[in-house]
Order: sequence, then structure tokens, then C-alpha cells
Amino acid sequence: GAGPAAARAPTPAARRSQPGFEALDDRKQVNVMRVVSEAMGIANPFFRSHDGPASVETRIDGRAAVNFATYDYLGLGQDARVRKAAHDAIDRFGVSAGASRLVAGERPVHGALEAALARHYGTEDAIVFVSGHATNVSTLGTLLTAKDLVLTDSLIHNSILVGAQLSGASRRSFAHNDLDALERLLVENARRYRNILVAVEGLYSMDGDLPDLPRLLELRARFGFWLLVDEAHALGTVGPTGGGLAEQFGADATEVDIWMGTLSKTLGATGGYVAGSAALIDVLKASAPGFVFSVGLPPVLAATALSALEIMEAEPERCQRLQANGARFLERARAAGLDTGESIGGAVVPVLIGDSIKAAKLSERLLARGYNVLPILFPAVPMNAARLRFFITSEHNAAQIDGAVAATRDEIDQLDRDGFGMKLTPE
Ligand code: PMP
Repeated sequence: GAGPAAARAPTPAARRSQPGFEALDDRKQVNVMRVVSEAMGIANPFFRSHDGPASVETRIDGRAAVNFATYDYLGLGQDARVRKAAHDAIDRFGVSAGASRLVAGERPVHGALEAALARHYGTEDAIVFVSGHATNVSTLGTLLTAKDLVLTDSLIHNSILVGAQLSGASRRSFAHNDLDALERLLVENARRYRNILVAVEGLYSMDGDLPDLPRLLELRARFGFWLLVDEAHALGTVGPTGGGLAEQFGADATEVDIWMGTLSKTLGATGGYVAGSAALIDVLKASAPGFVFSVGLPPVLAATALSALEIMEAEPERCQRLQANGARFLERARAAGLDTGESIGGAVVPVLIGDSIKAAKLSERLLARGYNVLPILFPAVPMNAARLRFFITSEHNAAQIDGAVAATRDEIDQLDRDGFGMKLTPE
């Protein structure tokens, strides 16, 4: 432009240059994975495009596959009644809420869903957000400050960690499900912080196991902290009727301060929720940035989740089918000598492989045999803990489960015979 500033040449000291995005560490890591995969002749296992809904029978690149990578644990995302509720909501409300709920985005279906979630947990109130991830980020970011401490299981979801970071609170983690270690952290730190929040998952998304809720409640009574349970994978899958972790242990759900979950898995929609006391929900509705400064949950998603929740509660046989399928998968996998870690044999069953390249290759070979199962690689899990992660649903049948286990055993044996990946395994 014109003007006096533009006329002045910059002095050398004022000049600065910055490398492009390719110099970022994350970018370098992506490149390493890409080069190694190409050298080994492995197709990228991620971003596989499905032509159709996230159901058990899917199509990838025009070929049929049995899907062990859908979160639609009870098949409700495909249920005709749920779809009708979604269509009706679009006809009535359109798709977008159009604005933050505070200012012009509120629809009756938002309140109805929140009331149903509060009823499910027996809490005073609930709040829904546009994303599950944003729910944790915003909730922790709102409740905690630099004076506070967050204690997390080492396998806790990224969204909790990001929320804790945002809050500025001190952070410590304890080994997975090691509540003795949690107790030691509490003994050491109980008096040094204003508030302490302990975060666990109702069903761990990587290992498929549960935390010991009664022991957590004992510790809570002794040390006084806020307990957050992330039920993303537990709602509809854990407990005799899929009620979640409290139902599994016959515990009083109101002793958990923060029930968090998502609408994107069992409830077949997209979004996240928190259920808890009226005071908690008031605070979040007034100040959680992901609620106040973000558009309201699309009414169609609220209607979808509400319909799915009602069916989930009315038809516990869906959860029982899922649990029978999970038990079958676990039993067959163990009989075949596969390492399923500590999985309870519910909605999530990992098959531990170790080497990341081998896990990626297995995923590719299983897809060629008609099974879609994703590898979980470093850095999502520790270096030597790469795995195939099977999501089990009520909609799988026995032949699909037995076939997937047999194919996995077979392909691992073939790779082992070929010595695949051995040289790349870090010691
Ligand atoms: N918590 C856990 C334990 C999760 O596994 C996930 C996502 N997989 C989330 C939160 C975030 O939920 P969403 O994908 O619905 O944003």
C-alpha cells in the first residue's frame, strides 16, 4: 500500500522468516510412516472410504466387507425408527440449529434429550454439546484452573488430556487401572491443590476393560475429588442392560460427579453429553466455551440420539446380544492363542500384535479376506503395543465372528512364517 510505513525499507533486525508446515514434528512423523509403509508395500489402512452407512455389512472400494470398525454398537444408527425420527426432525427443524442455543438455537428436542440423559443417570440435569471431543475439552477447561490437579488413567482419551491442558491445571497420570498408584498420587497431592479431578473411562476404548468403580468411590469418599467417568464406549454396552459402569457395579450413579459420554456411538448420532448436578450443568451452560460460543447441536442429531436412547432402554436384548457376541469373540480368540489383553469381551476386543508395521499389514490382509478391522499404531498406543481393534456389535453373527478370528490367526501365522516385520521391531 501507500503511506509512510510502506515507504520505509525493513531493517535487517526486523526481518524474520519461518519454515513451512513440512518442518513441523508431526509432519515429519507422518512422512516416516509413509516411507516405511511404501517400502513394505502396505496400503494406508486409514481413511478407507465406505460406500454406505456405518453398519456391520459394508462396502469398501466396491467390495463387501464385514465391519469390525463401527461404533454403532447396538445397530441403532440403522434402525428404521431412529431414521424416521431423524427425517421428521429435518422436516420440522431443518438441519442446523442456526446459532448458539443461548441466542437463537434452542429447540424443544434439545431439552427433551437432556432430560432423557439425566433420567438415564438419575442425575439432576444434563447438557449436550456438538461434539464428544469438544465436550471433554470444554468441560475440563471450564471446571479447572492452574490451582487444580487432574489425575488420569494412562489410557484416557485424548479429549480429556487436551481439556486438562487447556485448563492450565497440573496433570499426573497413573498406570492403566492401577488404583494403588492413584491412591499414592492422592496421598502425595491431596492438600496441595484446590480441586482435584480424577478421570477414567466406563469402558476403555483401547483395551476393552473396566475401571474398579467401587474402589474409585471409596477413594473419592476418603480424599474428596471430582470423579469423571467417560462413558463413550460404555453406554449401551456395559452393565446387564447397557446402563453403563454404575449399572455394572450396582453403584449409586449420583456418587459420580461427572458422567460424560458421546452421541456418536451407541446413540448413532454425533455430539457429546455431560450428566450431573444442577450446579454442574448450570456452570457449563453459562460458561463452557464449546457450548456458549458454538452452534447448538443440530436438532436432527438430538432427535436421532433421543430416539436411539429410548430404544436402547426399551430393548435390553440388544445389549445382551452384543455381550454374547463379545464373549464369543473373546472365547474363540483365546482358544486360537490370540492375545486379547485384559478385555472383558464386550464392545471392544483388541488383538495385541506388538509391531506397528505388522499390525498395518494384517489389517490390509484381513480386508482382502473381507474383514474391515483397523490397526491401532504408535503413538496412539505405546511403541510395542500395536494391535488390531475389533469393535463388536449386537448385529454381528456367529459366522462373522468365528470367520474373523480364524482369518486373523491364519494371517498372523503366514506373516510369522515369512518373518514379516521382524527387522523393524524395536527392541
Ligand atoms: N471419549 C472417548 C473415550 C472416545 O473414545 C471418544 C471418541 N472416540 C471421545 C470421547 C470423543 O467423542 P466423539 O468422537 O463423539 O467426538
